[in-house]
Amino acid sequence: MPPAHHDFIILGGGLAGGLAVLALTKARPDLDVVLVEPTAIGGNHLWSFFDSDVAPNDAALVEPLIGHRWAGYEVRFPAHRRRLSQHYRTIESERLDQAVRAALPPDRILAAHAVDASASSVPLDSGETLLAGGVLDTRGLSAAPTGLSCGWQKFCGQTLTVPAGHGLERPIVMDAAVDQTEGYRFVYSLPFSPTEVFVEDTYYSNTPDLVPALLARRIAAYAEAQGWQVTDIARQESGVLPVVMAGDFDIFWPASDHLARGGVRAGLFHPLTSYSLPDAVRFAGWLARDAPLDASLGVAARDLAQRHWQRGRFDRLLARMLFRAADPPQRYRILEHFYRLPEPLIGRFYAGQSTLGDRVRILAGKPPVSIRRAAAAMMEKM
Ligand SMILES: Cc1cc2nc3c(=O)[nH]c(=O)nc-3n(C[C@H](O)[C@H](O)[C@H](O)COP(=O)(O)OP(=O)(O)OC[C@H]3O[C@@H](n4cnc5c(N)ncnc54)[C@H](O)[C@@H]3O)c2cc1C
Repeated sequence: MPPAHHDFIILGGGLAGGLAVLALTKARPDLDVVLVEPTAIGGNHLWSFFDSDVAPNDAALVEPLIGHRWAGYEVRFPAHRRRLSQHYRTIESERLDQAVRAALPPDRILAAHAVDASASSVPLDSGETLLAGGVLDTRGLSAAPTGLSCGWQKFCGQTLTVPAGHGLERPIVMDAAVDQTEGYRFVYSLPFSPTEVFVEDTYYSNTPDLVPALLARRIAAYAEAQGWQVTDIARQESGVLPVVMAGDFDIFWPASDHLARGGVRAGLFHPLTSYSLPDAVRFAGWLARDAPLDASLGVAARDLAQRHWQRGRFDRLLARMLFRAADPPQRYRILEHFYRLPEPLIGRFYAGQSTLGDRVRILAGKPPVSIRRAAAAMMEKM
């Protein structure tokens, strides 16, 4: 049989690949788009974001996917508590799966592994090879990405049923008024209904190893400390995400590699929080509106990713301050200091849109950590 030929192939149906399918099928219904994803589309995730993370012209892409929304959130630190008015949203991966399956006919979703790929051909583990006018690789990051110097953000989350009510009205995006021995540690809570709350124990760490059972015990202890009687544990998710302190973009994505990348595989995530939804939405909009959907896509996508990398210099500096200028029990002070700043600045930071003035304000004043170690972290190569 001659190889099947398609207009465009997307490898990996995670957040970035799924959003790319939705944006592309809407803007270009004439195209024959194929998605290659061996497991569930979107995997097992909750993706949260602030409404200001998404530009107005991209809002229609994510709006139908949102499962939970709140008009504000809270943060808690040992010496500072604050309520913020920024709206907060959560998407469940099942919603992305449904939307992608509604956008693409079943024969355009291939449950297979791409074993290797180029800008125009995709061999699958079944032995079949697909040919395409354009290929986009959104297969996620490897466990040890080359060219990046990382710390790690590790977490485990569970949806708890509390029949007597948990009493939360809005998310607590960071509750860092918890033990900080393995800092920076915080608990993240999303009230899904008066009796259901998603609770995630998160900590920044020098190593990527994760012991989910340990974090599950911490969630149980946190629930008990809140006085919650938990009768059921539903959804569970866990993850180990890179916090990028420095790196070399040319090693991460060599200029000789012409296969177009998107999502975290292209480095399109926030260096400090590791969140990728704002970038995945922007990338999907760019792909549908402005990108060349042919073999030249690799060069255009690399150029876009390189500009994102350059914009991330300041966030990588903050990541170094967190990991290198402060001992684990003191790391929370950097975030406590950050959360005393004006709310619009905080919104721009999470959206990856900090201005020069924002950066000056974030670093202004007496550092909440060792001045000598902060200065050394600032001098390091980005
Ligand atoms: C549990 C968890 C929660 C997170 N929460 C948030 C959040 O709230 N907000 C936020 O902005 N970010 C969050 N992140 C970070 C980031 O947004 C996610 O990691 C996001 O899913 C990355 O999207 P992606 O599509 O680039 O990669 P992935 O979601 O990792 O998708 C890669 C896809 O490629 C597929 N694949 C792999 N190999 C092959 C192959 N050979 N052939 C074909 N397909 C293949 C995989 O099966 C997978 O579906 C979270 C991460 C995790 C792990």
